[in-house]
Amino acid sequence: MNVAVIGKSRINPFLTDQLKAKGFEAVLFEDIDSIKGFEGQKGKFLIKTNEEKIEAGYIILTQQAEWVSPKLSPKLACSPYSLLDISQKETGDFIKDHGRPVVIVLDYPAESAAVMTSIALEKGLALAAKKKRVFFLARFLRTAGEKLEKLYREARNSGITFIKYKKLSFDYNDHNGICTVKVWDDYGMISIDTGALIMGDSIVPGSKIDKIAELMRLRRDDTGFIGGDNTWIYPTSTNIKGIYVINNICGIPLRDDALSQIAYTISAIKKEMKEPASHRYVEVDASKCAFCYTCWRICPHAAMTPDFDKEEPVMKNLNKACNLCGICVSLCPAGAITITGNLDEKLEQVDSLSKTSDSKTLKILCCEKSAKIALDKIKDIYSRSFEQMDVSAVSCGGEVKAAKIISLLKQYEKVLVAVCVDDACKHFDGNKRAYKQVVRVCELLKAAGLDENRVQYIKVSHAMPRVMADTISEIL
Ligand code: SF4
Ligand code: SF4
Repeated sequence: MNVAVIGKSRINPFLTDQLKAKGFEAVLFEDIDSIKGFEGQKGKFLIKTNEEKIEAGYIILTQQAEWVSPKLSPKLACSPYSLLDISQKETGDFIKDHGRPVVIVLDYPAESAAVMTSIALEKGLALAAKKKRVFFLARFLRTAGEKLEKLYREARNSGITFIKYKKLSFDYNDHNGICTVKVWDDYGMISIDTGALIMGDSIVPGSKIDKIAELMRLRRDDTGFIGGDNTWIYPTSTNIKGIYVINNICGIPLRDDALSQIAYTISAIKKEMKEPASHRYVEVDASKCAFCYTCWRICPHAAMTPDFDKEEPVMKNLNKACNLCGICVSLCPAGAITITGNLDEKLEQVDSLSKTSDSKTLKILCCEKSAKIALDKIKDIYSRSFEQMDVSAVSCGGEVKAAKIISLLKQYEKVLVAVCVDDACKHFDGNKRAYKQVVRVCELLKAAGLDENRVQYIKVSHAMPRVMADTISEIL
């Protein structure tokens, strides 16, 4: 199987070697400008250059990122240390702290890049090991992922002070080289006199990302990077099945992160190759399709494509790219799209399992990417509660329909629908669509004079097992 590696990166030689070692044929496209066209779906992508059309079963983009050193207000005479710069130097000898605490600041409007957080924690730990007092300031604290959780734990144990702030200011004293950092959180203001200020750098997308994202219809996050929808669970996946992205920051040494991304990607491709074809698929009724491109624009997975082979052009579904989320079905103005095959395939399977467990109290329908993972984390601790309930995972909360909930209420005393938190839904609003279905059932129960609390709804991430456990114990 061909795997196309697209993008110029120093990880390419290692990546192509690894692909070959695992039995893949690696085809390298380092010059993104040479790519003139792109089509197809996983298993058979076509990459067009001026000279040829090359087929690739899977694609790995090596996404270049550049870093910009931190600059503070012109009023601040001192220049903070750049986190990425010092990450390449011998920490303790390089930093002059004037005998004062060291302050590490990750001042990003949203979550910092995972790589930046782990470098900051590693540097904080190295400083703490040299008996320096370290403050770690961030607007958002990333808490997901085993590696980061381990680093946070070690950092807390080594005495590093974490402050999650809302606002901060700096005041530099020319005479003694001390900078006063003031941070405000929900409870008030904290002032720290530091001798060494270390700021997280800005990481910006490399110049070719615009072009390749547009050509392949890859989604980008607020910072402009092509990214996965849940980098903690699927570190290198993109919105399009079969296309992966491995990040690499220019100018800093290759880190374990890049190497583990390569290993993850190759194993994810192997897994994808073994996936059985779905029995469900999206169909477009050519006689109804107004060729308005609505589905093409709104499909989160770029699974709709124009079919110009027909007498009248119509939209067609790329079934290997489609996640069967149903957004296009809901939004097609002509009502031309249906999902056919066994609509409730997954839930039917669950039904057949649950037929042997009539006595159970609670049925949980949970998103496989969030609530199911949180549930798995508490399974052993709350094994007694688990005896009273059945759990079934759905690929998206948007799959949960009112009719299904009602049919489950015939078997179970209660139903809990547990979906992703806002902005984490792989299908963007599956959690909201599930909520509407739950509300509809509750209204029906109420209208029939029945207990509307028999159906409950929560939003959790995979990192919220405690919330999951609390909700279950309240229900049971
Ligand atoms: S949204 Fe409906 S009518 Fe518009 S292109 Fe898609 S299938 Fe055709
Ligand atoms: S069902 Fe979802 S993934 Fe499939 S074509 Fe429609 S919008 Fe795209």
